[in-house]
Amino acid sequence: MEKEKENAGKPLEEKWHFGHNKAAAAAGSRSIRGTLSKVIASVEETGPRPLIQLGHGDPSPFPSFRTTPIAEDAIVEAVKSAQYNHYSPSSGLLPARRAVAEYLSKDIPYKLSSDDIFLTAGCAQAIDIVIAALARPDANILLPRPGFPLYEARCTFYNVEMRRFDLIPEQGWELDLDQVEKLTDENTVAIVLINPNNPSGSVLKYQHMEEIAKTARKLGIMVISDEAYGHLTFGSNPFIPMGVFGDVVPILTLGSISKRWVVPGWRLGWIAMTDPKES
Ligand SMILES: *Cc1c(COP(=O)(O)O)cnc(C)c1O
Repeated sequence: MEKEKENAGKPLEEKWHFGHNKAAAAAGSRSIRGTLSKVIASVEETGPRPLIQLGHGDPSPFPSFRTTPIAEDAIVEAVKSAQYNHYSPSSGLLPARRAVAEYLSKDIPYKLSSDDIFLTAGCAQAIDIVIAALARPDANILLPRPGFPLYEARCTFYNVEMRRFDLIPEQGWELDLDQVEKLTDENTVAIVLINPNNPSGSVLKYQHMEEIAKTARKLGIMVISDEAYGHLTFGSNPFIPMGVFGDVVPILTLGSISKRWVVPGWRLGWIAMTDPKES
C-alpha cells in the first residue's frame, strides 16, 4: 500500500519496471509498411476519393494478381489431409525443404539437399534469424544503400553495427568494391546483397557478382544474398542467383514465395546454405 501511494503521481516509466525498447521502436518506425499505414490513414480521413493503394510491392489485393491454382489446390489438400497439423521440425517439414532445395538447384551448378534449407515465416524471418545468429559483440555488417529497411531494424535490435556501402546509380547500381574494402575490418562478418534490388529494381551482372564474391573471400566475410525478388526482373540483365559463386565464398541465400507467387500472406520463406563445400 505504501508503495502504491508513493507511486501514485509518478510517470509510467517510473511506476513500472517494464517499458518498450526505444532503439527497436525507433528502427521499426522506419519500416515501409509502418510509414505507408500512417500516410494511408491520413489520406483516408481527409481525401474526397476512394484510395487505390499502390504504395508497397504487394499486388495480391488486386484481383488480376492471383497465384497459380496448383499452389491453392496444394494448400487445400494439405489442410484437408490432416497430415500436417503436428509440430514440424524447427528447420521445416522435410518434403517442403526438399522442394525448395530442388527449386534452387535448377539455377546453380551443384545440387542442394534438404539439409541445406531452413524454412522460415517469410523472408523477413530469414533476415531476423541470420542477423541474430551473426550478432556477436562488436560484430558489424555491410548493408547496401539504398536498401531494405528491415536489415537496419534487425541490426539495431540485435546491437549489430551497420556500415553502409553505396550502390552507384550511374553504373547500373553496381557496388564500389574499393569502398566495401575500406569499410571492412576484423569485426566485419558479412555483406548483404539484395538482388534483384529493392528499391532500385536493378539486377546484378555475372561478372560483377564474381568480383563481389572474390572480394568477400579476400576480406574473409560471408555473403548474405537476399533474393526475395528472384526471377522478377526488369530490363535486360537476367537474374543469376549468388549461389552460383558458392565455391568462391560462403553464401546464405534468403528467399520466399511471397513475391514470385504473389502470396506474401502465406509467410513461407527460407535460408539456403548455398555453399557446396558444406553439402
Ligand atoms: C519483401 C522483401 C522481403 C520480405 O519478404 P517476405 O517473404 O514478405 O517476408 C525481404 N527482402 C526483400 C528485399 C523484400 O523485398
